[in-house]
Amino acid sequence: MLYPYDVLRLKQNLGISSDGFLDEHVDIVLRPGTHFPEVLLRMADNEEKTCPFLTEKGCSVYPDRPDTCRRFPVEQGAVIDENLRVKEVFHLYRPPGFCLGKNEAQPWTSESWSRNQEGEKHEKMTLRWAQIRHRFQADPWNGQGPGCPNGKMAFMATYNVDAFRDFVFNSSFLKRFKIKTETVRRIKTDDVELLKLGFEWVMLFIWGIPSKMIRPR
Ligand code: SF4
Repeated sequence: MLYPYDVLRLKQNLGISSDGFLDEHVDIVLRPGTHFPEVLLRMADNEEKTCPFLTEKGCSVYPDRPDTCRRFPVEQGAVIDENLRVKEVFHLYRPPGFCLGKNEAQPWTSESWSRNQEGEKHEKMTLRWAQIRHRFQADPWNGQGPGCPNGKMAFMATYNVDAFRDFVFNSSFLKRFKIKTETVRRIKTDDVELLKLGFEWVMLFIWGIPSKMIRPR
């Protein structure tokens, strides 16, 4: 599964818009009993259904590879409490048969491995998204499904930063919400800051939870 920050970094690496990335590289699926779609990387149209970014020289998007690739063969999970706090982050080491990493002589901890793979940049964004996704375990769409207008807005704010930027600056958004002038300045060009705002806006407009970053006027 691709997380919002994965999509952001991949579209930057490829030099395309988030819209273009979503059109060309992902499949969006809704699992039964869930209330927010999953974004899956669309595999190449070859017999082995390989990753589209795999080349003879290796990963063509390596510096911006998704979080799951970065941590492989370690999986990260989080326990989220009823107040939406991350109570615990845990790691599972489950290398599949083909993984050569398990033959490595050097010992690693989950922390040193994450540091080695520059996983910290992803960590904060991934955990914030985990908290928000956790909320989607309950239906916020009153039975209309995530294809309803609010559902589409939430998807845009979290997975399609370029469309969200257009929405922020070309609608009444900035008149309706209090956002620091410095943040407004930064989100004009800073995709990561914009994605953070997108996360906090989803918390506000769906569940009415304001944050330091955004509140109603
Ligand atoms: S690390 Fe491998 S699976 Fe991940 S994006 Fe790169 S080529 Fe694809």
